[in-house]
Amino acid sequence: MKNSPKTVWNPERLDARAFAQAAASLEATLPLSTFKRLHAEAALDGVASTEPVQWQAHGEMRDASAGGAPAVWLHLQADTRVPLTCQRCLGPVQTPLAVDRWFRFVADEAAAEAEDDDCEEDLLALEPRPNLLDVLEDELLMELPLVPMHETCPVPVKLHAGDEAGGGVAEGEPQRKNPFAELARLKK
Ligand SMILES: [Zn+2]
Repeated sequence: MKNSPKTVWNPERLDARAFAQAAASLEATLPLSTFKRLHAEAALDGVASTEPVQWQAHGEMRDASAGGAPAVWLHLQADTRVPLTCQRCLGPVQTPLAVDRWFRFVADEAAAEAEDDDCEEDLLALEPRPNLLDVLEDELLMELPLVPMHETCPVPVKLHAGDEAGGGVAEGEPQRKNPFAELARLKK
């Protein structure tokens, strides 16, 4: 959408009301390293390059259901793939992350806190102006799986480490004498 070429929207300090009133859109492709917290979650050993984060935002004014003033809404979408550590084979697993979320804006953070319990949608404050990249990163971090794992690991999973640990514990375990062997010895 290039309806408003004179206006340059700053995603790091968005005038969300003007953005919605203009029904404006923003889109960008940014390297994963832009998102420091997300980048820190990535398993980068043996990964030649990471995929960028593609995102877009769209503003919209919507009539309030209760007949109040029209509300400021923002649609935020993002797609990327992040290498995470597979919890089975410990290799990198490319994990798709997608964000597709609507936010309603309220005047400020106090209003957002006051209303948050009463409504289902996500709220953001108009002031101070939000950094969409931070909002986006929060959403991407929430999409991270608790236990990243390949559907099928690319290499056979090695069980030797576990076997050795088990053997080690057994050897150091003094009560591991076979009670029946002991009984047989006493009966002699
Ligand atoms: Zn794996």
